[in-house]
Amino acid sequence: VATVAPTLKPTHNQSFIDRMLNENRQVLIMYGSQTGTAEEMSGRLAKDLSRYSKKAVVVDPEDIEVDDLARLKDVPDALLVLCLATYGEGDPTDNAITLIDYLKGGDADLTGVRFAVFGLGNKTYEHFNAVGKQMDAQLEKLGAKRIFPLGLGDDDANLEEDFMRWREAFLPKLAEEFSWELNTEAETMRQYRLEPVEPGKALFKGEFGRLGAFERPRPPYDVKNPYLAKVTVNRELHTVGKSDRSCRHIEFSVEGSRIRYDAGDHLAVFPTNDADLVNAVVNILEFDPDVPFRLINTDEDASKRHPFPCPTTYRTALTHYVDICAPVKSHVLKAISDYSTDENEKQHLTLLSTATEDGLKEYAKYIVKERRSIVDVLRDHPTCKPPIEYLLELLPRLQARYYSIASSPRVNEENIAICAIVTKYSIGDRQIKGVCTNYLLARDVEATAPVFVRKSTMRLPHRLTTAVIMIGPGTGFAPFRGFLQDRQYHKKGGKDVGEMHLYYGCRHPEHDYIYEEEIKEYQAEGVLTHLECAFSRVQTDKVYVQNKLWDTRERVWAAIQDGAHVYVCGDARNMARDVMNTLQRIFREVGGKSEPDAQTFFKEMEKSKRYQADVWS
Ligand code: FAD
Ligand code: NAP
Repeated sequence: VATVAPTLKPTHNQSFIDRMLNENRQVLIMYGSQTGTAEEMSGRLAKDLSRYSKKAVVVDPEDIEVDDLARLKDVPDALLVLCLATYGEGDPTDNAITLIDYLKGGDADLTGVRFAVFGLGNKTYEHFNAVGKQMDAQLEKLGAKRIFPLGLGDDDANLEEDFMRWREAFLPKLAEEFSWELNTEAETMRQYRLEPVEPGKALFKGEFGRLGAFERPRPPYDVKNPYLAKVTVNRELHTVGKSDRSCRHIEFSVEGSRIRYDAGDHLAVFPTNDADLVNAVVNILEFDPDVPFRLINTDEDASKRHPFPCPTTYRTALTHYVDICAPVKSHVLKAISDYSTDENEKQHLTLLSTATEDGLKEYAKYIVKERRSIVDVLRDHPTCKPPIEYLLELLPRLQARYYSIASSPRVNEENIAICAIVTKYSIGDRQIKGVCTNYLLARDVEATAPVFVRKSTMRLPHRLTTAVIMIGPGTGFAPFRGFLQDRQYHKKGGKDVGEMHLYYGCRHPEHDYIYEEEIKEYQAEGVLTHLECAFSRVQTDKVYVQNKLWDTRERVWAAIQDGAHVYVCGDARNMARDVMNTLQRIFREVGGKSEPDAQTFFKEMEKSKRYQADVWS
């Protein structure tokens, strides 16, 4: 689900189409957002329209009756803008599923509607921007007129730059298409106004939907209502003193919460920002962090009344609700540039936020490559002191992080395990710590964290006797621990279980071989029938899981022919693609298939869920 913002629906409960008609708004912006980026871009586009004195209706498709979209052609000069992220294996985001199904269904007649689509994707994944591409073509099929070419954002390279370039060309085209005039004064308009809070008023302290949600939890739990789970285990999986990284096995108790999960699902964790970074913002901008406040949308008709749960304090907002660690977005740099009193600083911030070749180049280097957060930017531009409430309006929401669940409810349904490699790296003299993994690292037993389970489609085969081939180097092993626990449970219960082949990989058997003892136990018990370990850093040549697949190609092919299901988990950037290529090579060279037949065979395995990937970058 895309948004964790407390979107208050209009009290009059009218359809978004009626709102467009009644409020004289011709632009409808809809987003498919999983981590908030598409939602944020939609908000920025809506704000851009204020340059032309136009107000858009921004809609989370999950909050509406999607078949109302058929009435869009009743809105004079209607324009539909879709910002659609592609998630996982070419899938729509959770919040956009019904919208995509509806549009694909082909019933809507959108004749007369104009449209543009910006897709958010990642080239490391096989189905790059699949959803954006499909919907761009589908809207045309439904009779709508494309007024601007599809934007293909690539999060592997520089999504912000792709968006800046697209938007920079899109807006003038829009103005031309509709003969809109520029209203330069409107450009810096704030979207939220600051209001004081009466003494004694209950404040949000990190909850997401409802005040007191953590003290008085109420199921069901989801992105808008996470469950405050207690940490019951938090232990190191790497060999201390040998590995230069840390990988944590963490278990959360969900006892009494009625949360259900399956091996293969994901656990989402809402982190908080590092207190040192929060204090850095307080010190740089010099404000009292404990003052309660609320931000109210100046657009009375907007569905989102606050940018995050309000009323709250500045410290809570900076700790729980906004992202102060991600590379700063260009519109934030532009907005804060006005507050620099030093001309050079102002020029630098302006350059960074301008979609010229020089500006984009500087943005790509200074912000993206060198990963500068708002804290870094404020430190580097010491005269730039935007008001804290304005900064809070501009910063994106802090998002939950997802982890493959590393346990099976058959073994312990009250506890959910994950394993997380702690992100820590340096750029120049700056030490950068991943938000969530460092938050998790510090969660001792008895500490709590807001979590929810996100259902996945990665499942063990229905039949217990079907063989499985699991390929999961590093933390990619996580879901397979759940699979092994599942089958171990059935085997112990006297049932026949199929072969389990594991291709595991790590750097060195003595440094980062996670769950080694358990893996060997599964092997001794006969649950894990075939184990292949690729240790990449014990010899000069790299040995990876795909090399092990190739070494055992006859066995792999025989198992696949007998109906084995293949699973890949972990690194999307290189490993998943290399594994896929190796499998297809096996289909050709052992299975005797031609290149096109090997590809078709692979696609069919994907379609029938006999090949499933759970990969991330
Ligand atoms: P963040 O603060 O989000 O920082 C991470 C970002 O920093 C990266 O995206 C990258 O842009 C940047 N970065 C990282 N290292 C460097 C570097 N060396 N140089 C420059 N930039 C860098 N993770 C697990 O550990 N275990 C899992 O089981 C797991 N399962 C996942 C399942 C899914 C479906 C998805 C989408 C992700 C999964 N992840 C898993 C990744 C996890 O969600 C987080 O992305 C990860 O833990 C980092 O989060 P963070 O908040 O600590 O780091
Ligand atoms: P890891 O320890 O980095 O890697 C596990 C093993 O995979 C190592 O032996 C590694 O070898 C090997 N490997 C490297 N490239 C490979 C390839 N092309 N094909 C097959 N094996 C390859 O794994 P991890 O730390 O658990 O993380 C798994 C992946 O998740 C990472 O690669 C990363 O992309 C992703 N991740 C991202 C974040 C994030 O911040 N977004 C956080 C955690 C994990 P060598 O290292 O010796 O080459």
